[in-house]
Amino acid sequence: MKNDYILLTPGPLSTSTTVREAMLKDWCTWDDDYNKDIVEVIREKLVKIATAASDYTCVLMQGSGTAAVEATIGSVISNQGKLLVIDNGVYGARMAQIAQCLNIPCHVISSAEMVPPNLEQIEDVLKNDTTISHVAIVHCETTTGMLNPIADVISLAKRFNKVVILDAMSSFGGIPMDIGELGVDFMISSANKCIQGVPGFGFVIAKRSQIEKCQGLARSLSLDLYDQWHHMEINQGKWRFTSPTHTVRAFYQALIELEQEGGVTERHQRYQCNQQNLVAGMRELGFETLLDDSLHSPIITSFYSPSHHDYQFKIFYQRLKDLGFVIYPGKVSHSDCFRIGTIGEVYPDDIKRLITVVKTAMYWNV
Ligand SMILES: *Cc1c(COP(=O)(O)O)cnc(C)c1O
Repeated sequence: MKNDYILLTPGPLSTSTTVREAMLKDWCTWDDDYNKDIVEVIREKLVKIATAASDYTCVLMQGSGTAAVEATIGSVISNQGKLLVIDNGVYGARMAQIAQCLNIPCHVISSAEMVPPNLEQIEDVLKNDTTISHVAIVHCETTTGMLNPIADVISLAKRFNKVVILDAMSSFGGIPMDIGELGVDFMISSANKCIQGVPGFGFVIAKRSQIEKCQGLARSLSLDLYDQWHHMEINQGKWRFTSPTHTVRAFYQALIELEQEGGVTERHQRYQCNQQNLVAGMRELGFETLLDDSLHSPIITSFYSPSHHDYQFKIFYQRLKDLGFVIYPGKVSHSDCFRIGTIGEVYPDDIKRLITVVKTAMYWNV
């Protein structure tokens, strides 16, 4: 089965045929074939991708990425705790919304979507509010494509002894990092982003000593991160409730293919090459990027919509789709833009082809 078009979206994204083929078999959730040989191997491999440190562990959680974020925020903060959220986009704001829903005290530092977080302001808040126990930040803010300065923010949080939660949903597996070196306590990502699997579950790489403290803290039964982790630990990979077996098997295949590509460094290079080709080609056609180059990530890029009066995103989108590419609408509040993702089973040659197609699609009225 071939795809009709390439998804240039930040998840679900285009996957390889072999990843999709891995789903053509049914699995028993009680059997070692599944738990020991697939789930446990995935957990080990994920920790290795995340850090060279040995004191980290991994827990998989059913649902979309947001479920894994909600499981983390809802399970790791005690009733005496308070969360500081650094928000400069939809996904930062969503973490604050989750805290609010769960009645977890929360301080939000919001900055405009096009500016990086202000370190002095964060330091001030950490100094003045000693009830804050946890700090949460997004790595690649998929709203704009901005790469946040996580190393600076995390070292600040650590200076004040805070537990750090990192939403690395759209960057993990596509941008090299060592969460142990950074000092991250809980890192969240999902199956359908840079590991290039299909949607269905998220995962959390946690500092073992931190997750061990979380028994009984959860505000939800099915999203109890500790319980899910503990169950997997003592039952060798068994999930508490029905697991997305086909998705998990596809994810295993995706991890093998990440290794075959040469690991995260190689994948990062491909994504970077995709993104650089994209920006150069789009600029040649007269498009402008929303962000300064220094703030770009290789994951997704926002472009201002063409200014001619008869431009309509829907028509542009449909024409590109007919020609084999699916792009993403903008999500920034005060600017009219659209986004193009550069992750997934997508290569620099695909991006070059995209540019010629954009050129055609731009002039539908001529
Ligand atoms: C994709 C994404 C999420 C999770 O989104 P879901 O739609 O719930 O899978 C969270 N944070 C970031 C930064 C993302 O890119």
